[in-house]
Amino acid sequence: MRKYRLMAPGPTPVPEKVLLKMADTLIHHRTPQFQTVLKNVNDKLKKVFCTRHPVLMFASSGTGAMETSVVNLLSRGDKVIVIRGGKFGERFGEISEAYGVRTVNYDVNWGAPADPEVVGDLLAANPGVKAVFSTLCETSTGIVNDIRSIGGVVSKTDAVLVVDAISGLSADELKPDEWGVDVVIGGSQKGLMLPPGLSFLSVSSKAEKLIENSDLPKYYFSLKAALKSYAKNDTPWTPAVSLIQGLNEVLDMMLREGLDNILVRHARLAEATRMAMIALGMELFSEKPSNAVTAVKVPKNVDGQALVKKMRDEQGMTIAGGQGDLKGKIFRIAHLGYMDKYDTIAAIAAVGTVLRQLGYQTELGKGVAKAEEILLDE
Ligand SMILES: *Cc1c(COP(=O)(O)O)cnc(C)c1O
Repeated sequence: MRKYRLMAPGPTPVPEKVLLKMADTLIHHRTPQFQTVLKNVNDKLKKVFCTRHPVLMFASSGTGAMETSVVNLLSRGDKVIVIRGGKFGERFGEISEAYGVRTVNYDVNWGAPADPEVVGDLLAANPGVKAVFSTLCETSTGIVNDIRSIGGVVSKTDAVLVVDAISGLSADELKPDEWGVDVVIGGSQKGLMLPPGLSFLSVSSKAEKLIENSDLPKYYFSLKAALKSYAKNDTPWTPAVSLIQGLNEVLDMMLREGLDNILVRHARLAEATRMAMIALGMELFSEKPSNAVTAVKVPKNVDGQALVKKMRDEQGMTIAGGQGDLKGKIFRIAHLGYMDKYDTIAAIAAVGTVLRQLGYQTELGKGVAKAEEILLDE
């Protein structure tokens, strides 16, 4: 027998209690019962997103909310700045181009964070830019961007700052209202400990003004419709009722643990993983590592794709390989969501085992010992 363990940066494991909640009797969405759930969820979402602004939900994966931000904030011919330091930064550019929005690309070396000064220079060189798109954690490279500084730069202009926090939320600090972030995007299957299928998007007052004037085509993903219903504690279309019932439970769990404690837990697990990988003789890929996911360089003479495959098929553990140009060159272990000390130690042990099987010379247990030491008081 093998237990199956999800250690990839999404989907992440779902707590048993939440799974049971989602198996509850299905209720109709136009009822006082569901309105109560929705009211609770909407209030708690603001706390978890650390914002006083509305956090809207869509029945889609995270990319749906990314597309929602583009089609609702912008108009034909608008110009935007896209920070592209990996797969997900690129996605914002692809969506913008699909709708005829003009993009100014800031190409950051994969593995490095964006430089806020460059963002400022690009804003100065491109007057009239309507939005800047960034990621908090760029999951494909494992870096975390300095959103506080980027927000400081963007908030001095008329442009809005849109942050894809799909993987970073709850793992890396984000204070949207204080840092000048106008739109925060989330997804259910990462730090929010739910199955895939819900996306989230917060809307600042500055963003609401752009929404009023946007003329790009949209229907299902209309933020005007979503905001109008939100004000009446309703949703424009049938919401993902079961997922929202699960979300209600998740948000209680998160608020009970406390957002600061959750950040510390992710930071500790990430630190232990980073140090364990170094103890095993490997190098980290990211210059500024996120606490959501650790990206590690595959050692020379080791088949990176075989490593990920053996982890899954023989050890029962799903980690992530590299995407795009990084295929076979890095592997990524997540610390996201419903994870504790022993999940992390198990992942480190399995990586050590598989590396040895693939001919890499390392002493078994070295990574685990390092992690145990770091997490001794956990
Ligand atoms: C997972 C992820 C997404 C993609 O979300 P989907 O739910 O697959 O649509 C987007 N951005 C980042 C940073 C992610 O980690």
